[in-house]
Amino acid sequence: MIAIDDILEKIVSKEIEKKEALRFFEELPEKEKSYLVSKLKTHLSNNANSVENNFSEKKERTLKAVTELQLNEEHKGFIDQMAQKLEKNAPKSKENASECQTYFVDQRRTGGLKKALKRLQFHLTYSECDGAYLYDIDGNKYIDIASDNGVNLFGHQPDFIKEAISKRLDKGYPLVGYTEELSQATKLFSELTGHERVLFTQSGTEAVMWAVRIARAATQKKKIVIFEGAYHGLSDTVLAAKDQFGNSIAMGLGMIQEFADELIVLDYGNMEDLSIIEDRADEIAGVLVEPVQSRNPNNQPVEFLKEVRKLTLEKNILLIMDEMITGFRVSCSGVQGLWKIKGDLATYGKIPAGGMPSGMIAGLTKYMNYVDGGTFDYDDESMPSVKKALMAGTHTRNPIKLAATLAILTEIKKRSSTSENKTDESNSCFLQELNEKTRLMCEELNSFFKTKNVPLIIEYFSSLFRFKFLDDPNGVVKELVFVLMRINGVETSPSGNCFLTLAHSDKDIKSIIRVVKKSIDTLMKQNFFYISDSIEEDEIKEDIRSTISTIPDMRNDPEQESIKNDQMEKLRKLIISDLNNFQEKEVTI
Ligand code: PLP
Repeated sequence: MIAIDDILEKIVSKEIEKKEALRFFEELPEKEKSYLVSKLKTHLSNNANSVENNFSEKKERTLKAVTELQLNEEHKGFIDQMAQKLEKNAPKSKENASECQTYFVDQRRTGGLKKALKRLQFHLTYSECDGAYLYDIDGNKYIDIASDNGVNLFGHQPDFIKEAISKRLDKGYPLVGYTEELSQATKLFSELTGHERVLFTQSGTEAVMWAVRIARAATQKKKIVIFEGAYHGLSDTVLAAKDQFGNSIAMGLGMIQEFADELIVLDYGNMEDLSIIEDRADEIAGVLVEPVQSRNPNNQPVEFLKEVRKLTLEKNILLIMDEMITGFRVSCSGVQGLWKIKGDLATYGKIPAGGMPSGMIAGLTKYMNYVDGGTFDYDDESMPSVKKALMAGTHTRNPIKLAATLAILTEIKKRSSTSENKTDESNSCFLQELNEKTRLMCEELNSFFKTKNVPLIIEYFSSLFRFKFLDDPNGVVKELVFVLMRINGVETSPSGNCFLTLAHSDKDIKSIIRVVKKSIDTLMKQNFFYISDSIEEDEIKEDIRSTISTIPDMRNDPEQESIKNDQMEKLRKLIISDLNNFQEKEVTI
């Protein structure tokens, strides 16, 4: 039998005719067929003249994911099969998604939407949820790893939360005034997190927005430092991107530059950026940090954050720790307890909200007092002593959500270490076991991806994990992996953040691993990954990237000399190499 590399050589050197090549191709076993096709793709996409060199080296290289523009008829046929399967499995969901859009406005519906895949990209309609599972209206059952964006530490509707809510429903839920749950929940929250005072908001976004207001009120300064890659909700107060010259820019339609101008966007973990905080300390009211960014869980810059803490203490700047996702996930005292870096203020939501719409701000009395003026005695002459910053909201202390919060905090306290210090992040914390299971699952999948050479890793921190598609982060392959997982009974999140919960059994975890592996194997078999010769391309790009950073910002300094010839040449190369990447590449043999 003719060796596969020989056939390839003959085809690319046009030594044999198309017909003969096809005959050879037909004779190959399935596995070798797909190997040959990916080799051919490499050859065609890179327009190489010779294929005889580096074969053994290429075998070691990471594969590349096919992009939307590279989809060929074979891929399209497979996508069509998937669409038919999904339509057969979930017809009612598809119909509902179609009907729903007339009246229901939903940005998530169009996030990640790809023309080539849109038949696959409809939302399921769930009929029930319970523990680690979701059920759709077509009768399918899914293991849920979206876990309601990280809310469900105990899985969907654990009994203790259901009972607490139902009790409160029976008694009524007055929105104005206090209920018993309010004082009990705030006391327990402070005890578990170690923060002095706490308030409730209607969402996480609102908690962050108000925390920023407290920082401005307390310092009488304006600027807020945020870090690239962090997410703090969608309020204009905390949304800006950084351009290549380090300027903060408004992120999109409806967002105005004046808000972005009040934000300083820095690199998370870059010690050099600390000098910016130091130099501009007189303007900076607060540094807002997502200590482990859900979008970059592998970036855990403890030493950097310690330096930020030191600097903020010295310079009268508030450190606001946004523990919306990490709070009660690594320990009761969150990343602040784990790393021993306490914020002046911290924001929470998700887990301690027990599945209800809520958020919390907690922190030092001296800062929290900017909300209510501080404590006083009803029976003497004392009065609130601190000037107040405006904050209110119809549902801030909705008793139904407070009942859920009290129930979940009580359960967390019960399950926590029996050690005296309940806020300790010690190994006996009940969260450790779940986080260890997450680590093992992710590590097993990462070694699988490595063995297969696919450009995919899972980043993780505690029970949070995130699939990262390295060469085409939001491309068709990512979407296809998630659709295949859905077809095989595992439901992921459109936001990309996935979570294990205490409701996931070991059997569920095994199923998740099996389904992820199966999805990747299927896509490999269908040639959605190909061997790339892009090392040189990457080198060129890196070179060009560094060139771009040396190009003067002519907006700031119109007198600057114009872009030099060699810089222009490199830019041209970058554009050409990008164009090459986007050319439609079809395998024709
Ligand atoms: N901060 C962080 C770190 C978050 O992850 C989120 C939401 O995911 C928010 C703030 C906003 O919270 P919400 O969606 O409740 O408004």
